[in-house]
Amino acid sequence: MRLILLGPPGAGKGTQAQRLEAAHGLAQLSTGDMLRAAIAADTEVGRRAKDIMARGELVSDDVVVGIIADRIGEADCANGFILDGFPRTVAQAEALDAMLAARDIALDAVVEMKVDEEALVDRVTGRYTCAQCGAGYHDRNIKPARDGVCDRCAGTEFSRREDDNEASVRTRLEAYNGQTAPLLPYYAARGVLKGVDGMADPDAVTTEIAAVLGVGLSG
Ligand code: AMP
Repeated sequence: MRLILLGPPGAGKGTQAQRLEAAHGLAQLSTGDMLRAAIAADTEVGRRAKDIMARGELVSDDVVVGIIADRIGEADCANGFILDGFPRTVAQAEALDAMLAARDIALDAVVEMKVDEEALVDRVTGRYTCAQCGAGYHDRNIKPARDGVCDRCAGTEFSRREDDNEASVRTRLEAYNGQTAPLLPYYAARGVLKGVDGMADPDAVTTEIAAVLGVGLSG
């Protein structure tokens, strides 16, 4: 299965992509995570992306298209993948179409996670992840069962993204509305667009995604 999760920052793409990865053995391909890894490793790409990302603007199409082109050829993508945060512009979507056509593979679905914009600033500014395994949490909405201890790996170190502040979120929302939202008619015209209610609680969203994809919740 080859999927795209589409939605503004804070829509829950990362959370649902992690669940799809665990349930169906699909590789989660998050360009945001890859760029953050490049920044941490102080690579050429990371140095170019750092300030742009901190402001909440989009990194150039060439950079992210190059990253994804390399990544989808790797062995763990053979069983399928979930694109989380890519494509974000029509030019990226066109580049993806060409990449998939060259490999003779097709997209199965593009899932739009629909959310109210007013909720997003709260969602994004409250979120944090386990520094060890990357499990996602939120100050108010998704707390670990034991305070300060990761449910998944029992890690006790957590981190917040540098760009999860209000000014950057507002810029990211503008980027979404101006540059990414045109992908909705792009994929609707290709008959692959499905919508789910991203305002529901995370388990209900997982159930709805499985339903629109016509798959079970696991396996
Ligand atoms: P994300 O983790 O998906 O929220 O992405 C964090 C930031 O990384 C974005 O605000 C952009 O600066 C950059 N980024 C991630 N994916 C892309 C993409 N497909 N195109 C351009 N910039 C991206």
